[in-house]
Amino acid sequence: MIRALLLAAAGLVLAASVARDPFQLACERLAGTRAIAIVALDPATGRLRALVHPQLAQEAYPPGSVFKLVTALAAVEEGLAPAGRDFLCTGAYKVPGAKGPPLPCYKADGHGHVALEEALGLSCNATFYALGSRLGAPRLRATAERCGLVPAPGAWLKAPRDARALAQLGIGEGPAIGLTAERLAGFVAAIAVNGPVVTPAWEPGPLTGPPLAKPEVLARLRAGMRAAVVRGTAKPAAVPGLAVAGKTGTSTYLDGSNRTHGWFVGYAPAERPRLVVAVFAKEGTGFGTASALAGQVFRAWPR
Ligand SMILES: [Zn+2]
Repeated sequence: MIRALLLAAAGLVLAASVARDPFQLACERLAGTRAIAIVALDPATGRLRALVHPQLAQEAYPPGSVFKLVTALAAVEEGLAPAGRDFLCTGAYKVPGAKGPPLPCYKADGHGHVALEEALGLSCNATFYALGSRLGAPRLRATAERCGLVPAPGAWLKAPRDARALAQLGIGEGPAIGLTAERLAGFVAAIAVNGPVVTPAWEPGPLTGPPLAKPEVLARLRAGMRAAVVRGTAKPAAVPGLAVAGKTGTSTYLDGSNRTHGWFVGYAPAERPRLVVAVFAKEGTGFGTASALAGQVFRAWPR
């Protein structure tokens, strides 16, 4: 009985100490009452440093362009994006064998010739429509599974219904795919430290499994994520004196409305990552909402 009481008291003290952690509190204040999930963790262990709106962090939504990290990983491993090869973005991608108008890049006049890293940094849609089409759904699915993204509770990666939907899967858009912020944080940890995919937890178990990919492969993704913050779509996540790297996503609601979800996944410091941050804004954009908030999370982090 006394032992049970002591254990209960210890549990309360533990819960209180978590609740009082200044970084956790700062993250809670940043999200406020908005439908925003924040997952911050140590990439070497998976140990959570902050977790805001945990239920939302485990709900699956179309990931948008953060999924380009998976497409890029598969493409590099398949030899589709060797160093030195450029992709040409003319502002749209004509899906081979598909009817209908070309799928647009968000930059109507095109990004021109871009290497994989720049395509990631600028989040060029045309490059990743093309890579998704060439890789095919089974290869994308197998890579997403290895990244720990599916199967996951609530998450899905279904066979796209046609060639256009496959191209859209390459950029993480459409009904074929839904992922969670929690699993994306575990995936980005592997990219950050050349390690295995981690399971975010306050008291993580020992790491299991091999590194996600070869170091030289993950280095290509890291270069793209750094480019995104320095000169691309994740600029609002930049913090003076701290090298942040990341990837944004802005995905369309599946209800047919004009609203969008906003995503950011990234880490810092770029040269020796010690904090991974995933932000999901149920309503918002990757650039304006999620990246900007991630920048505030990195600022609040007691380095
Ligand atoms: Zn483009």
